[in-house]
Amino acid sequence: MTPEHAITPSYPPAVILPRAEHPISRQSIDPETLKVLYRLHRSGFKAYLVGGSVRDLLLGRTPKDFDVGTDATPEQVKKLFRNCFLIGRRFRLAHVRFGKEVVEVATFRRMATADDLPESPEDHGHFVENVFGTPQEDAFRRDFTINALFYDIGDFSVIDYVGGLEDLAARRLRIIGDPLVRFTEDPVRMLRALEFAARLGFSLDEQTREGIYARAPLIAEAAPARIREEIMELFRHKVAGEVLRSAASMGLLPHLLAGHEGDEATFALLEKLDERTAGGTPIEEPFALAALYLSRFLRACPPQATVTDVVRIAGLVLSPHCRYFHVAAGIRHQAREFLIGIFRLRRGPGQRGERRFLQHPQTPNALQLLTLWSEATGEDGKLLAAWHQKLKGRASSAEETEPPAAQKRRRRRRRRPPRKAED
Ligand code: ATP
Ligand code: MG
Repeated sequence: MTPEHAITPSYPPAVILPRAEHPISRQSIDPETLKVLYRLHRSGFKAYLVGGSVRDLLLGRTPKDFDVGTDATPEQVKKLFRNCFLIGRRFRLAHVRFGKEVVEVATFRRMATADDLPESPEDHGHFVENVFGTPQEDAFRRDFTINALFYDIGDFSVIDYVGGLEDLAARRLRIIGDPLVRFTEDPVRMLRALEFAARLGFSLDEQTREGIYARAPLIAEAAPARIREEIMELFRHKVAGEVLRSAASMGLLPHLLAGHEGDEATFALLEKLDERTAGGTPIEEPFALAALYLSRFLRACPPQATVTDVVRIAGLVLSPHCRYFHVAAGIRHQAREFLIGIFRLRRGPGQRGERRFLQHPQTPNALQLLTLWSEATGEDGKLLAAWHQKLKGRASSAEETEPPAAQKRRRRRRRRPPRKAED
């Protein structure tokens, strides 16, 4: 341990792994990020790779992005790079641009205490971290030990202030500090804990788990926009089923999703959807939304429901979520179309209005969702083959007879008036 890593007496000493004792090679670091690190270092500043990238490199995974931490202030960073833009109001970050690529450079910071902050209503419900700090302080303000490791371009060492290396080796996700305090500070960390555990196949540290049980209701106080984004991250990372299942078992789910109680069919469907995403089909929010609420929708539809009833029921089932998360009308509309489409598919072929239904642009997606539902629950299997056949026929005859522009025109026209009952 070198003295400069032990400035703050209340922190335990850092563990430093020299280059020979860890697998991170400069070849696996993004070249533009390396340029930024080197220039900061040559200019006399500390320059570290920070956050998820160090974790992923140590695990032999490919990082999504490479973030840089430094003791240079944003203004000093700006002076060093021609294509540098300072962004953010509360905490200024430097973005260094290389063509389309952006390298994010953040000055080391610490958790703000009450004294550091002017009382501002805007800060409500956010964790605030807008005061410059030492590297140690920067490590300790982070969420999980494995997310607080640094790679120092100065000597190619890995610096661990928080016990992250031990937790990586034990494949354990542990929040930094007192779980009750850290989850109260920022309840979104509870969801992130489940997300990282699922993504990496790590176990949740026992105290961290107990902290989630104890603080679960607080997640309802987090900013809905952040929750919405983290939920979509779960879908993109193909862990929505697993994470929402464990969120339900830990009492987090209803506070998270505007009262969504969760059920086996939903979790099984989401797991199928995650498999589909893993297979390369990108996930869109309306589809995710329809999957989240399909089970509840089907339970709410009476056996003799007409299409008119179902249009109303689909709207009702989606509306608490859409209101809470301020989901745009277009996304909500598409999710509703999927649900209505599923209802019509489940009635079986040969109903009135089938020709138009088959040409509806969302019908193939509704069929995909029903297929996942069938795989997840074992229901509706027989219907699927018939529908797949019919849709295939439709698609090829439409291609033959109509130029794409005509198809587009027709779709646009049909979308405008409110859907009318056809039975
Ligand atoms: P990935 O980008 O692969 O999802 P990541 O670890 O990079 O994972 P980000 O959400 O990009 O996660 O955040 C970057 C880093 O910022 C994290 O590694 C963590 O150190 C810190 N961080 C993010 N969110 C929080 C939070 N809510 N509280 C404390 N620290 C956080
Ligand atoms: Mg990241």
